Amino acid sequence: MTDCKKCGQPAAIYLTRYGLGFCSDHFLEFLRNKVKKSIHKYKLLNPYDRIAVALSGGKDSAVLLHILDSIYSEALDLIGLHINLGIEPSNYSKISLNLARELCSDLGREFYCVDLRKEYRISMDLVEKKEKQLKRSLCGICGTFKRYLLNKYSLELDCEKIATGHVLDDEVSVLLMNMINGNVEQLVRTGPNLIAKNEIMITRIKPLYEISELETMIYAQFANLKIQDVECPYSKGASSLKYKKLYLMFENQLPGLGITFLHNFHKKILGPLQEYYQTTREKVRICAICGGPTSETVCAFCNIRKILTRNE
Ligand SMILES: [Zn+2]
Ligand SMILES: [Zn+2]
Repeated sequence: MTDCKKCGQPAAIYLTRYGLGFCSDHFLEFLRNKVKKSIHKYKLLNPYDRIAVALSGGKDSAVLLHILDSIYSEALDLIGLHINLGIEPSNYSKISLNLARELCSDLGREFYCVDLRKEYRISMDLVEKKEKQLKRSLCGICGTFKRYLLNKYSLELDCEKIATGHVLDDEVSVLLMNMINGNVEQLVRTGPNLIAKNEIMITRIKPLYEISELETMIYAQFANLKIQDVECPYSKGASSLKYKKLYLMFENQLPGLGITFLHNFHKKILGPLQEYYQTTREKVRICAICGGPTSETVCAFCNIRKILTRNE
């Protein structure tokens, strides 16, 4: 085994991609510095911002909050925002909620939970029961719920931005999926810094944009973070997972492919694509039911909720 590049102690991890070994403490420092560089490069944060961090209970979002807290202890007002999706199998939602809450209390940060069942009388369990009527995948609906609620509640909590735990693997596999399927509308809306276009939308930032899932896994382990290790009972067969596997196959053959793809997409493809698409892009409208952002008369969240609460 090699030695730590920083202190010469025996390395706890060897990163093939960089040809570097680190002890656990210096790996934590290495990853924090990497995140800090992305934050500067993409201008994600301003001093004393109030930032909602979307906490799922899983490793990526836990690592995100832990890293932001370590880098900017006093300089950021961080608040954990958790969505209780109402998934009873494997006690999934209950465990996720407890883990997210515990992390915030360990770090001395504010915590806020939105309960789908209590606030809206709907849940992912109900979505699963009525899947056929909804004509969309469970993960797609869950994504709509999360986007809608994170936007709404981070604004209500007076936050400047919301930070999500999306990592390199998520970004690359979603880009791949959207390119293969020709989803231009989704393609022009990707990136680490999605700036709000109006006052009913919040700016969404992704500080882990250039960090791989393997790196967050090692970080969570070395920092002793307690995280949800049960896979979501409704994610089986999700197409996003298939594209992630596809990406990892590529990455195995050509290490570094993911980050090169992301950089090239943003430097060379996104600009012209946005310019071309700007002319045909629809304006943001206001949902007739909830007043939230939408491109139709009624937003996707209200539409799904209408179907779910029909004949109650
Ligand atoms: Zn060291
Ligand atoms: Zn609505």
